[in-house]
Amino acid sequence: MSPTLRFNDGKQIPQLGFGVWQVPNEGANAAVTAAIQAGYRSIDTAAIYRNEQGVGDALAASSVPADELFITTKLWNSDQGYDSALKAFDASLKKLRRDSVDLYLIHWPAASLGRYVDSWKALIKLREEGRVASIGVSNFQIAHLERLKAETGVVPAINQVELHPRFQQKALRAYHEKEGIVTEAWSPLGQGTLLNDAALAALAKKHGKTVAQVILRWHLDIGNVVIPKSVTPARIVENFQVFDFKLTAEDIAAIEKLDDAKGKIGPDPDTFA
Ligand code: NAD
Repeated sequence: MSPTLRFNDGKQIPQLGFGVWQVPNEGANAAVTAAIQAGYRSIDTAAIYRNEQGVGDALAASSVPADELFITTKLWNSDQGYDSALKAFDASLKKLRRDSVDLYLIHWPAASLGRYVDSWKALIKLREEGRVASIGVSNFQIAHLERLKAETGVVPAINQVELHPRFQQKALRAYHEKEGIVTEAWSPLGQGTLLNDAALAALAKKHGKTVAQVILRWHLDIGNVVIPKSVTPARIVENFQVFDFKLTAEDIAAIEKLDDAKGKIGPDPDTFA
C-alpha cells in the first residue's frame, strides 16, 4: 500500500498514483482496473485526456469502495474562467460518474488568457460546496502561485509539474516546501527516456530493481507525489513494487547529479496555452 502525504487543508493523498495521459478512452477501463488490482488507489486523469468516461467505467466496476480511491481530474485551458470552470467541472463529474472528486487542478496557468485567478476562485467555491475535497494547480511557476495567494489568500494543496531526474525543479520544490504545497511529479520516468541511463542502471543493479523502480523510489524518498503511466499490466505492477527498498544518501546524491539545464521535455509553463 502506498504511504500518503498530508495537504495544507488536512486531507491526504497517496504518494504513488497512476497517470492516464495518452491512454485512449477505450483502454482506460482495462488500465485503471489493472492498476487498482496492483494496489494503486490514486488515479490522475484530466478533461483533455478524453478518458474520464473510461476511468469512470473502471471506478464503477471496481470492488474497492469509492471512499478508498483518490481521483484527480483537471480543468482544461479553454474552460478557464469562473463560470466556465464550474461548468467544466460538472462535465468531468458526469463522465466520471461521481458526486465529487478528491482533487481538482487547474491544468496550466495559461497566463496569456488572463483567467487563472478567476478559475481558482471557482475551485475555491467547489471546495466550499464539498464537491471537491482539495484544490490545486499544475504547471504553475512561483510567480503564478504568488499571485493566487496575494489575490485569494488560498494556497494550492499541490502543484503537479514536470519533474524527473533530468529536470529536478529544485527552486520550485524549495518554494513549495516553504509554502506548504505538496510537489507532484508528472512524467516521473521522463516518458521512458531515462530508462537507459547508465548511472540509474548501476543503481538498479545494486538494489536488484529495475531502472523505473529506482526512479520512482527516488521520487518517494525526496517527498514527491508520483504518478507513472503504463498500459502494460506487468509494468503497472512493476511500478508499484517500490515499497520494499530504500535509496541511500549516496544513491540520492548520484541521482542529483543527473539534473540537467536541458533536461526539460514538456512545454514552457510561462507561455503554453
Ligand atoms: P511517464 O514518465 O510516467 O512515462 C510513461 C512511459 O514510460 C510509458 O508510456 C511507457 O512507455 C514507459 N514506462 C512506464 N513504466 C515503465 C516500466 N516499468 N518499464 C519500462 N517503461 C515504462 O510519463 P507520462 O505519462 O508523461 O507522465 C505520467 C502521468 O503524469 C501522465 O499519465 C499524466 O497523468 C501526468 N501528466 C500530467 C501533465 C500535466 O501537464 N499536468 C503532463 C504530462 C503528464
